Amino acid sequence: MSWFKRSKENINTRTEEKNNTPDGLWEKCPNCKKTLQSKQLRKNAYVCMNCEHHLRIGSEEYFELLFDEAEYDEIAGNLISGDPLEFVDTKRYPDRLRDTMKKTGLNDAIRAAVGNINGFSTVVCAMDFSFIGGSMGSVMGEKICRAIDYCLENHYPLLIISRTGGARMMEGALSLMQMAKISAKLTLLAKARIPYISLLTDPTTGGVTASFAMLGDLNISEPGALIGFAGPRVIKETIGRDLPEGFQQADFVQEHGFLDFIVNRKELKDRLYKTFRLLMVTKVEA
Ligand SMILES: [Zn+2]
Repeated sequence: MSWFKRSKENINTRTEEKNNTPDGLWEKCPNCKKTLQSKQLRKNAYVCMNCEHHLRIGSEEYFELLFDEAEYDEIAGNLISGDPLEFVDTKRYPDRLRDTMKKTGLNDAIRAAVGNINGFSTVVCAMDFSFIGGSMGSVMGEKICRAIDYCLENHYPLLIISRTGGARMMEGALSLMQMAKISAKLTLLAKARIPYISLLTDPTTGGVTASFAMLGDLNISEPGALIGFAGPRVIKETIGRDLPEGFQQADFVQEHGFLDFIVNRKELKDRLYKTFRLLMVTKVEA
């Protein structure tokens, strides 16, 4: 049974001969499993060069992609959740928040910023799924409302990029109240005739889909995004029937009238610029 034993002791592989590469240089496409060079992937707007799969990215990447020279000012970036319900699951909510903040370097699951898209001033709110599943708590509601105030004061259009599992369980009813709060605020934007585009990315579900993500003057999506309220498994179990092919995927959602168009991320910036220019009513000076 000698083949269970090393024939020589102390066999070590030198670092330069190892097959694995340092972190951050390569990424694997979750769809086609091809290994992609991080630098090229970034240049390609985080869209797989092999299969066009849109990899999940966060607010920082979207701001870099959309804003000219990647320059922007953050709105209400310092807001942090409280713990009004003193919620405990596998850990205390304040501990979970603190750990997540440390891990992600973010203060909450959404960031709001103002900057230029091809020279056109725009307010963009973008969610981070890495922060408790992009969940909607009081901070998300407040940040979006302050972003809308900023739009109203300056007559700038609004883009919200959703990537979320929905309401934040740890804030219970307070989390659900954000749906009404943001929806009401969006009415003011509509009254001021300022356009709002909602971009739904993979995944957009729960209370966010059930409120502001579907209230855009245009609701648009990235290819292949999962969009729905409840997940497919829950629906299947509830209705006791098999679901049609492509159910809750962007194409399916568009065919059924919930999306205006689907846009490849590489064309997102230009498409947004053109659309906002078309929708924006020039402010008439009194
Ligand atoms: Zn791929």
